[in-house]
Amino acid sequence: MSASKFTLLCNSHKCRAKLSGFVWVTACSHVYCDQHGSEEFSRTPAICPACSSMLSGKLDVFRTELAPSEQYKAMVLVGLQPETVLEISHKALDFWTYQVNQERMLMEYNLSRAGGQVLQMEKCMIQQSQSKELELNALRGEIASLKKVLEEYKRKYNEVLERLNERNRQYQKLQGLLDSLRITEYEKSLQLLSSGLVKPHSSPSFLAPEGDRFFSLGPENAKTFFQFSTPTRDRAQSFIKKNEV
Ligand SMILES: [Zn+2]
Ligand SMILES: [Zn+2]
Repeated sequence: MSASKFTLLCNSHKCRAKLSGFVWVTACSHVYCDQHGSEEFSRTPAICPACSSMLSGKLDVFRTELAPSEQYKAMVLVGLQPETVLEISHKALDFWTYQVNQERMLMEYNLSRAGGQVLQMEKCMIQQSQSKELELNALRGEIASLKKVLEEYKRKYNEVLERLNERNRQYQKLQGLLDSLRITEYEKSLQLLSSGLVKPHSSPSFLAPEGDRFFSLGPENAKTFFQFSTPTRDRAQSFIKKNEV
């Protein structure tokens, strides 16, 4: 930090304002804005808020202007011995150096504290990232096992579907056989009718009322296949018995 670019800050820790105009300087090398200096040093005895030094001497606290007029600068040290001028300048520069060093130390302290916080945050982030990674791995494992279960279900579904198709093929085959048997039976009864052995008005009992189902291949057949196979045979027997009478 260049000393010429440095701006004095109010040494009150709750203020820290950049100073200009009138300020309060102390023998213990502290400086305050006009407002805080007026508040602190109006009491007796005056105590420096920054270092708690007793400022009981007449010139221990001093209100001064940071940018004095050219006339003031031209006259303030006039007439003093060169050694006195140098001594005054030396003390003024000591004050300035002290303030610059104080600010530098404060900045270094803040910097190291911020660095510590950054390190702490980095540590925290690493821990969080590790725990998230563990969670993620656990979830990946869960997904993999669920995929396996899904594959197993798919395999079982395909097996069941294959068995169902097989049963369906068997059913269609049996249905075809049944239909051809019924057609044969119907042709026989027509032959009996035409040979005059049966009266024309007595239609074969197996034709009514579900006679037109013989040629139906719709889903109704699937439902009634096992239901009416036996009764049809019974009706066919009763038909034969009737003919014998
Ligand atoms: Zn202040
Ligand atoms: Zn002080």
